[in-house]
Amino acid sequence: MARTKIFFGTGNAKKLKEINEILGDRYEIISFRDLPEKIEVIEDRPTLEGNAIKKAREFHAATGLPCFSDDTGLEVEALDGRPGVYSARYAGEDGNAERNMAKLLEELQGQENRAARFRTVIAYVNGEELQTFDGVLNGQIGHEKRGDQGFGYDPLFIPEGDHRTLAEHSADEKNAISHRGRAVRKFANFLK
Ligand code: IMP
Repeated sequence: MARTKIFFGTGNAKKLKEINEILGDRYEIISFRDLPEKIEVIEDRPTLEGNAIKKAREFHAATGLPCFSDDTGLEVEALDGRPGVYSARYAGEDGNAERNMAKLLEELQGQENRAARFRTVIAYVNGEELQTFDGVLNGQIGHEKRGDQGFGYDPLFIPEGDHRTLAEHSADEKNAISHRGRAVRKFANFLK
C-alpha cells in the first residue's frame, strides 16, 4: 500500500532520521532534500509554538502537502529558561553546536542548579486544520561534554534517572525518551 506523503520542514539530517524511525513505516516523509530548492522561513517568533506554526503554515503554502515542523529549545532553570527559543543562535547566528555548548558551560560555571529541560513543539497544518503537540525531557546539564551520538546539546544533557548524556544513548534509546520522540508519538497517534 502506498504510504501517505507528508512534508517535514527540516534541513537537519539527524532530525529527519529520528522522525523517520518513528513515522517512516506508515508515512513517506518528504523534506528539503526532495525539493529543487529550500524554502526559507525566518524563525522570528518569541515562542517555540509560534515558530513551529509559522514554519508549518509556510511549508504547506509552498508544497500543498500536509506539513509538519518542529521547534526545540533547551530551557535551563538557573538561566530563567534561556536559551529556550534562541537555543540554535545562543552563541551566534551560525548555530554552531560546539560554541553553543561552550557558552552554556561558561554561563553555568560555579552554578549548582544544573536543572534543564528540552521542549519540542510540533505543528501540523494540512489546509483544513492546525494542531500542535509537545514533548518534554527533564534532566541536568553536565560539567563536561560526553559521547558522540545525537546532535546539538546532546553531549551536555543528562536525562533524569540516568548518568549518561544523551550523546551516550543509542538512537533508539534517545527516541524512546526524548522530547522530540514524545511529541512525534503524540502526533503519530493523532494521524492514526
Ligand atoms: P531547532 O529545533 O532545530 O531550532 O533546534 C534549536 C537548537 O536546539 C539547535 O541548536 C539544535 O541543535 C538544538 N536541538 C534541537 N533538538 C535537539 C536534541 O534532540 N538534542 C540536542 N540539541 C537539540
